[in-house]
Amino acid sequence: METMAPDVLISEEDIALRVEALGKAITEEYQGQEVTVICVLKGAFMFCSDLIKKINLPVKLDFVALSSYGDGTASSGTVKMELDLAESIKDKNVIIVEDIVDTGLSMKTLVQLLEARGPKTLKVASLLYKPSKTKHSVSIDYMGFEIEDKFVIGYGLDYAGRYRELPYIGVLNAGN
Ligand code: 5GP
Repeated sequence: METMAPDVLISEEDIALRVEALGKAITEEYQGQEVTVICVLKGAFMFCSDLIKKINLPVKLDFVALSSYGDGTASSGTVKMELDLAESIKDKNVIIVEDIVDTGLSMKTLVQLLEARGPKTLKVASLLYKPSKTKHSVSIDYMGFEIEDKFVIGYGLDYAGRYRELPYIGVLNAGN
């Protein structure tokens, strides 16, 4: 078992400040309305959990899971919905909450699938965005941080199922 910790890219404190600002922006935008937050499993679970605590509105929470990278660090090029929503989003104010937009394929596919179900509004919150990797344009309404093209882990994001529990966003170094 490795003992070296990953390098910190975005600290716990910086994440907390940004998540608070995003929650405030959402609260202001939807004043007097209910929002349906859709957490994209598994990577967005920690971001989503912290974000909804900073949204001062009635919130409903639902989950989807998309096929992921598996145990590697490169996209397979196809996206499948592995777990569907429990409830209808027709006429709801929907906010998709994702961990990271990389090539944009997952988010573009999910937005198309959910648009077809007739939400009142549909917006996207993503903690991280890698602009240099974008192949499919996706509009991110609430963005945490733009990062360079590095494979990141922690704060919900994994590498081969590990590191999700870290309270910061990190980068694996040669030692681990
Ligand atoms: P996209 O479809 O935008 O290429 O990829 C989005 C998904 O790929 C994310 O939801 C995440 O699961 C995975 N992904 C992309 N980049 C990274 C990364 O740097 N680290 C981790 N852990 N997952 C990533």
